[in-house]
Amino acid sequence: MSQFAATDGEILVGGVPLVRLAARVGQTPFYAYDRALLSARVTELRQALPAAIQLHYAVKANPMPALVGHMAGLVDGLDVASAGELRTALDAGCAPAGISFAGPGKRDEELTQAVAAGVLLNVESFREARALAGISARLGWPARVAVRVNPDFELKSSGMKMGGGPKPFGVDAEEVPALLAEIGSLGLAFEGFHLFAGSQNLRAEAIVEAQQKSFELALRLADSAPAPIRVLNLGGGFGIPYFPGETRLDLAPIGANLAEIAAAAATGLPGAALVIELGRYLVGEAGLYVCRVVDRKVSRGHVFLVCDGGLHHHLSASGNFGQVIRKNYPVAIGNRCDASADIPTSVVGPLCTPLDLIADRMPLPVAQPGDLVVIFQSGAYGASASPQAFLGHPAAVEVLV
Ligand SMILES: *Cc1c(COP(=O)(O)O)cnc(C)c1O
Repeated sequence: MSQFAATDGEILVGGVPLVRLAARVGQTPFYAYDRALLSARVTELRQALPAAIQLHYAVKANPMPALVGHMAGLVDGLDVASAGELRTALDAGCAPAGISFAGPGKRDEELTQAVAAGVLLNVESFREARALAGISARLGWPARVAVRVNPDFELKSSGMKMGGGPKPFGVDAEEVPALLAEIGSLGLAFEGFHLFAGSQNLRAEAIVEAQQKSFELALRLADSAPAPIRVLNLGGGFGIPYFPGETRLDLAPIGANLAEIAAAAATGLPGAALVIELGRYLVGEAGLYVCRVVDRKVSRGHVFLVCDGGLHHHLSASGNFGQVIRKNYPVAIGNRCDASADIPTSVVGPLCTPLDLIADRMPLPVAQPGDLVVIFQSGAYGASASPQAFLGHPAAVEVLV
């Protein structure tokens, strides 16, 4: 499942063997992200999708500044979900024209920062639209806005649904015409629509269906828009495989469908840029989490590797970030990749809670204190999505190699 190569039993990150990388980083635990794998993923995606589709990176998935800087040079824009992420995106060198800001509870201070920066705001309520009119008047700079639509359908088989039914995200499709009228009378600079149906989807047919329905909904809503549609963000939701039995997302049908949508948009929404926004799919497979075995314990015949890192740095691998049934992320002993993996082993962290579980009865090679445990598929929703202060252990370091 892993995209990382190994030589002499050691995983390589950006060509650097893992033991040497750990020495270079100066501590475990750490996250390491591989620039070449990040670049290769964007290239692969560009080849699979029509040239007309603009690719945005959703900073939420991994906001490490150096990584965002690398991504900013590869994609057409960055999507942010807070003023903090906005600052990261601007520091990364992304042109404000290519930045968009979504999020259900944008505070007035955040809205002001975004208007002053000149980025596109995805409006998610009537209150936000009115606040933006006041801010625009005060700054003397019109807010650029799109409407985030809570669609009247769901993204089937998505790991996390974020559209359809009652949701705190966006404005219900049936209320959008009224919001568009208000945006027109408030004098905001209206640019288009944003639809995001959900996350972590491995079924191409479901993504195709959601993108098709999103496009049709946007076409209908465009009739009520106060200005021509210049941007249509169709969301994303592309998943990556984490668990045994999961297979890679097939990009071919998605690319074919987006080509049809692009052709229909050329006549139905002339001049509109089509955007998809991806987080996890762009960065998730290019990252590793590395911690060191502190102790090896045998309790009533069962082997435990106790490590210096775990849940507090990598909540999702512990199974506590939106998983219904806990499953093991792909885990290896990163300096013993060529040893046979035949000892049923539980890998745990140092926290005094049974939730701090990295691998539950997984077949692994014989390991000793000092060995390096690696969790693959860790480039998204890792360090920034974990309760690093819990129990007062040191924070994980992040490096881009
Ligand atoms: C979280 C989020 C994303 C990124 O989702 P991934 O599953 O990481 O691709 C994109 N857009 C919006 C609006 C989001 O909330």
